[in-house]
Amino acid sequence: MLNIDADALASELHARIEGEVRFDAGSRALYATDASNYRQVPIGIVVPRTIDDVVETIALCREHGAPVLSRGGDTSLCGQCCNVAVVMDMSKYLRQILSLDPDGKLGGNAGQPF
Ligand SMILES: Cc1cc2nc3c(=O)[nH]c(=O)nc-3n(C[C@H](O)[C@H](O)[C@H](O)COP(=O)(O)OP(=O)(O)OC[C@H]3O[C@@H](n4cnc5c(N)ncnc54)[C@H](O)[C@@H]3O)c2cc1C
Repeated sequence: MLNIDADALASELHARIEGEVRFDAGSRALYATDASNYRQVPIGIVVPRTIDDVVETIALCREHGAPVLSRGGDTSLCGQCCNVAVVMDMSKYLRQILSLDPDGKLGGNAGQPF
């Protein structure tokens, strides 16, 4: 059972990131599902505007013991992006493809292979 002070986490996120912080019931309901039949209501939503927002969000969630979950287009079919976690929605601001490597078949984010 998670024991997380979601209000405190939300206000620290508001203070420390540029992106959007949505911990209201409506937003949490919106992000409770993906393209599957699974339902899990998240702790809250962060829509990071920058990579630094992602780093800061993960650091704050770590301090609060809150799980984190990245989310893209929500098209996963087996509930991969539904969880009791702080969901980071990358689809609004962090959607630029920076590089493609068709020969080496590596994905890339900021020039870093993953
Ligand atoms: C109609 C339909 C047809 C499909 N056909 C195919 C197919 O032919 N082949 C195929 O391979 N798949 C197929 N899929 C599956 C789907 O396309 C993949 O699951 C898709 O790649 C998920 O991408 P997403 O950005 O929507 O991720 P999400 O659904 O948002 O997330 C999926 C997983 O990736 C993680 N994730 C998302 N973004 C990030 C990030 N920035 N950093 C770290 N982790 C992240 C999430 O935490 C989650 O675990 C299909 C889906 C649908 C609905």
